[in-house]
Amino acid sequence: MQLGILGLGTVGSGVAELIQKNQETIAKRLGKNIEIKKVLVRDLRKKRPFIAEGKITDNPGDILEDSDISIVVELMGGEEPALTYIRQALASGKHVVTANKEVISKHGKELLDLAQKEGVNLFFEASVGGGIPIIRPMKQCLAANEIIKIMGILNGTTNYILTQMTEKNKSFGEALLEAQKEGYAESDPTADIKGSDAARKLAILSSIAFNTRITPDQVYTEGIDSVNLVDINYARELGYRVKLVAMGKRHSDEVEVLVAPMLLRERHPLAGVSGVYNAILVEGNAVGRVMFYGQGAGKMPTASAVVADIIDAVRSKNGNKIYCTCYDELNVMNPGLSTARFYLRLRVMDKPGVLSKISGAMGENQISLSQVFQKNTQNGTAEIVMVTYEVPFENLQNALDEIKAYRQVEEISSVIRVEGES
Ligand code: NAP
Repeated sequence: MQLGILGLGTVGSGVAELIQKNQETIAKRLGKNIEIKKVLVRDLRKKRPFIAEGKITDNPGDILEDSDISIVVELMGGEEPALTYIRQALASGKHVVTANKEVISKHGKELLDLAQKEGVNLFFEASVGGGIPIIRPMKQCLAANEIIKIMGILNGTTNYILTQMTEKNKSFGEALLEAQKEGYAESDPTADIKGSDAARKLAILSSIAFNTRITPDQVYTEGIDSVNLVDINYARELGYRVKLVAMGKRHSDEVEVLVAPMLLRERHPLAGVSGVYNAILVEGNAVGRVMFYGQGAGKMPTASAVVADIIDAVRSKNGNKIYCTCYDELNVMNPGLSTARFYLRLRVMDKPGVLSKISGAMGENQISLSQVFQKNTQNGTAEIVMVTYEVPFENLQNALDEIKAYRQVEEISSVIRVEGES
């Protein structure tokens, strides 16, 4: 069984190492050897352990046009040329394994339809949650369920930053620098910090969970750059942890999809997921809640998922294949109508009547407050922290627009969702 690998960076070199390290075990399980025939790279001068020099090429045709190669493993990343190469491989009857969340979240349906037409497999287990098995369990082990809700910590970088802030009392900037020093954050961490990496992964998971096509641009997305250490500490006083949560929820005829910082009760299963670890909580109407936990990135954990896909592609060469499962066309809920409880922090003048004015604006917009307290009063300024009962997001935005205009309100410092369930 001959493979061609496109890309030999962090994950690609992990795949080469794992295939060599576990060669005997894999051969016993499969009844045949897996052989890496060619590997595509950009820079031919770099040293490449685990791969013989003659197997390295910078010509994609050496893989895509080689009829002896029946499985193409795409590990280059980015949208192009990865998308073109995947299309080309599928169209020429090759199975494709990829870890590319950008390509799958944007073009998954088209590629799965092409794979179906050609009678080949397209597997992408590593595109969500790195080494955590989640795509195959959702498509196979949970296939008997209607999925009601998925909630996940899908980005290790932001989880590491929030954990450092919570446990080491570091500011956002200090925690980000630490993540970069430890190699957990890219030099340009925008996609992680702003939530778009998690939104891509949620789009893939929601499409599978709710059998409808969801693309990253449909996911309401907030990042963690506005989360302040002060909020983390107030949240702790209230019995919560702050996490960047990706959530998909099935309503009767629409789907709610969002990525946002959230206050989770300390006993919530996702609240204890620390550092670079990821976890996904899936709620099905038969199974109840199941949780998947592990390393969401990194060379060997991600290689573990990629090599398992390769093994599955070999096994199911002539057998059952699962293609696109987006049978329905559900609408995506307008984020303004999505309801939640909210944690709010405001800086106001420390004067009589300010709090009643704020509560008045809340009341006019049908918002009830479950907790209110005043903090940090100094130099004529006070900090007000409030937690609302469940309200539609647009009611809250209307109330905050009114409150912002009050002369006595200096700043609306934070607005963070609060997960009601534990
Ligand atoms: P990486 O370290 O940047 O490696 C990319 C590899 O692809 C390099 O070998 C590079 O060649 C090659 N490459 C890139 N563009 C190319 C082009 N146009 N032509 C030929 N070769 C090209 O990336 P990675 O971290 O391994 O990530 C690979 C994929 O896995 C991405 O889709 C990523 O999102 C996904 N993923 C990564 C992780 C993780 O922990 N890293 C986890 C889950 C999923 P050179 O070596 O010559 O530069």
